[in-house]
Amino acid sequence: MELAWMLGITALAGVGGTGLGGAAGCLLRRESSRAISLLLSFAAGVMVAVVCFDLLTDALTPDPDGKPPALLVLAGVLIGYGAVDALNRLLSRGPEIPEGRGGLLLAGLVMAAAIALHNVPEGMVIGASFAAGGGPDTLSRGGLVMAAVIGLHNIPEGMAVSAPMISGGMPKPKAAAAAAATGAPTVLGAALGYAVGALGPRMLAAALSFASGAMLYVVFGELLPEANGLWRSRAPALAAVVGILVGMLVVLL
Ligand SMILES: [Zn+2]
Repeated sequence: MELAWMLGITALAGVGGTGLGGAAGCLLRRESSRAISLLLSFAAGVMVAVVCFDLLTDALTPDPDGKPPALLVLAGVLIGYGAVDALNRLLSRGPEIPEGRGGLLLAGLVMAAAIALHNVPEGMVIGASFAAGGGPDTLSRGGLVMAAVIGLHNIPEGMAVSAPMISGGMPKPKAAAAAAATGAPTVLGAALGYAVGALGPRMLAAALSFASGAMLYVVFGELLPEANGLWRSRAPALAAVVGILVGMLVVLL
């Protein structure tokens, strides 16, 4: 029963968040790259706060003998980072992106693939947080907070998928639906994260670390470079810092 609830809440955060963003992207004017740049940087900042103040803090919870599993966390983060990097390399062997309308449409599709992929570790974060937080018949507060944080952070990501598709000539409902679909892998990730996390404290720490490394790749390898490419200014940096602070407050309060 709890599992069904968890998956439902994850679907709401994953598909609902990106879908809402996709619909919001329909309202943006064509010259909206600055707004998207700020939103992506903000989302990146929120993710950094979640990784540092929540996931890694949980993963580093000391053993009964009083030592934090530092090496396990170190290895987990590096493996998570490497796994997403390797997947991205496979994806990026696609066609060169041409200039103009067709290029925009293709950029939207590439963005959709990247967002869909990175939603797997984000779902793992939600699943592992639920596993960390409670017994078999309570929905943990940590998991709910994480679902809310990731759902909110999915809104700018959904916009980043639908806005270029619309500028590239795709009909708006189709673009919004495509954005919502990129949220679906979140549910898969949540089931995975929950299953691994429920195996015990060590496996939970490993799952949280892996998801952290994957998210750090997304932040520093995808979201921030994308944001800087859309708007060469210091404004995205400020948006990222504001995102870190907002994420910190959401996690800690
Ligand atoms: Zn994301």
